[in-house]
Formats: sequence, structure tokens, C-alpha cells
Amino acid sequence: MGGSVQIGRLFGIPVRLHITFLLLVAFIGVAGLMSGGPSKALWSMVFIVALFACVVVHELAHSLVARSYGVRVESITLLPIGGVASMEEMPRRPAEEGMMAIAGPAASLAIAGALYAVVHLIGYRGPMAYGERPLLVMLMWTNVMIAGFNLLPAFPMDGGRVLRAVLAHYMDHVRATDIAVSLGQGLAVVIGLAGIFLLNMNIWLVLIAIFIFLGAGQEGRQVRTQAVLERVSAGQAMIRRFETLDRNAPLSIALAYATQGYQHDFPVVEGDMIVGVVTRQDLLTGLHTLGPHRTVGEVMTTNVCQVPPDANMADVYRRLAQGGCGVVLVREHDRIIGLVTPESFRDQLVASSGGPAAS
Ligand SMILES: [Zn+2]
Repeated sequence: MGGSVQIGRLFGIPVRLHITFLLLVAFIGVAGLMSGGPSKALWSMVFIVALFACVVVHELAHSLVARSYGVRVESITLLPIGGVASMEEMPRRPAEEGMMAIAGPAASLAIAGALYAVVHLIGYRGPMAYGERPLLVMLMWTNVMIAGFNLLPAFPMDGGRVLRAVLAHYMDHVRATDIAVSLGQGLAVVIGLAGIFLLNMNIWLVLIAIFIFLGAGQEGRQVRTQAVLERVSAGQAMIRRFETLDRNAPLSIALAYATQGYQHDFPVVEGDMIVGVVTRQDLLTGLHTLGPHRTVGEVMTTNVCQVPPDANMADVYRRLAQGGCGVVLVREHDRIIGLVTPESFRDQLVASSGGPAAS
């Protein structure tokens, strides 16, 4: 996520702070200073940092459960409106997604339970956070609120994910997501309006409502895209007629060639062998920085991704996204029979949105 700094690692997962989060802490400090002097400012800031430590535990619970299902967790980022665990993808099995979603609120409730024990059984209540209420009591109730709020069935919040997991048990994944997205966006509108009119323009709630609304829409589109791509194989989507470029061709000639046709990405050959791939953009950049007499071989990518023709396009897309290869070659036995380029995905999606998918 842009604009964030890493502050450490937990269980190997980078924990990052968004710059706006630091602004929030500073803002709360200044507000405390103006309304109650230095000690209030200090305890307000201690409270907010302790609260976000609880949020990290919440996100860590999601992350560790997801990781136990084989999902790679890229980072946990703290934003002023809460934490975000960035995952490569969501667990696909509904039961796994449900478990992952419920783990966060469960962790928040566990923290609240532990604080309850400290406050009511041991009798330690901590210093006064805002000069009026004990720090640990406030933290306890805030964790209960975090658990409760996250369990609202507002997809993509935790409760919405649990809902989708339950729905996906009875219908297909896309339909379950559609229902969860609609409900999530409806609730986001309600939360936003409540923030504006009932809670006197509560910016925090309004931001969360926007976050939910946009997040639900985005994930809904992702699931649809994925479903379309899963129905198409690389062999169906690939470009069959394609040109290649010679490794020793000068950039100026290669670029003239590349700008004449519709093909944007080219396998690079040396004799009969494919030794790399090059995009029109690579040629342009190379021509600009190296000059016209350098060769295609000098600007090509040697990291060549290959798939069999029966690979489904959702998997191919993942290869493209993770492997850093701009083009995927479709190989049957020892022969390259086609190319899958970023345009191939767009074409599939356009074709599928025009009407019922041809099968
Ligand atoms: Zn959560």
C-alpha cells in the first residue's frame, strides 16, 4: 500500500503504518493537549496506540488462519480507520473463508475477555485514559465494539464474509458474492447516513462506509472476472497467429515492425529457440535509453512463462501477475502454439459481458 512504512514483522508478516495513521496520533495528541493539558494528551496517545495494537492482533488472527490454508499474507497495514491484512487471494473454500473471517472478531473478544479478567478479577484498572475513565476498561469496551462492528453483515467486513461463506454453501460463489455485495453496499449507505445525520457528521464512520462500499464493489467485480476466466482455457483465448522477433534485430527495425500491426508483445527467437519475450513498451523504452542500434536481445525479458493449452485463464492470470512476465507462451509438447497477452484477458471479459458466454 502506498504511503506506508514498515515498523516490524510478526510471524514473518510485515506490519506497516500508513502515514495518515501517524497524523491521527498527532491529531489526537494535539486535541488532548488543548482540552486537558499534557497528561491528557499523553494518555490519549497511549490509548490510541494500545487500541491499534489490539487491531494488529485482530488482523494477525485473520492472517494466521488464512496462512494455515496456504494463502500468502503480504502485509498488515494500519490505517486511521482500522487494519487491513493484504492477502494474495482469499481462501476459496467457503468454510475456510468463514473461519478466516471469524478469527478476527474472536481475537478481539479474547482480548476483551483477558482485559475483563485483569480489571475485575485482579482489580487493576490502569491509569485514567482521558482523565475520567480507566485505560483498561476503555480498551476492553473498545475491543467488544470492534468485534461487534466487524460482525455486521457488511461485505467485505468480517460479518459479510461469514455471510458469503454461508450463502456459498447453498448456491454458487458468484451469486453468493452478488448478494453479499448488495447487502454490504446497502449497509454502507445506512452506516454513512447514520454517521452524517445521527452522529453529527462522524467522519470516521463516513470513511468506513465509503471503504465498505468501494471494497464490496471491487471484490464483487474480481469474483465475476475470476469466474469468467475460469471457464476459458489458454488454448481458447490465445492468439494463434503471431510474429516473432530475432534476438539480433536492431531496436529501430523491431519497433517499426511492432508499430505496424496489432501485436504488442513478441516472443524473441534465436534460431529455432525462444529465448525471451519483449513488449512494444520495452522496445520504445530501449530505443529511448540505449539508442537505435542496440538489439532486441538487450531489452527482452528472459523470464518466459509457459502454460499448456488446457490451463484455465484464471490460473494464467495469476502466473502473469506473480511471475512478472508480460506474456505467457502456450506450449503443446515441444511447440509454442500461441500467445496469451494482457489483451487476451480483456477480450475474454468483453466477450463474456456481451451476452451468455459461448461454451
Ligand atoms: Zn476483521
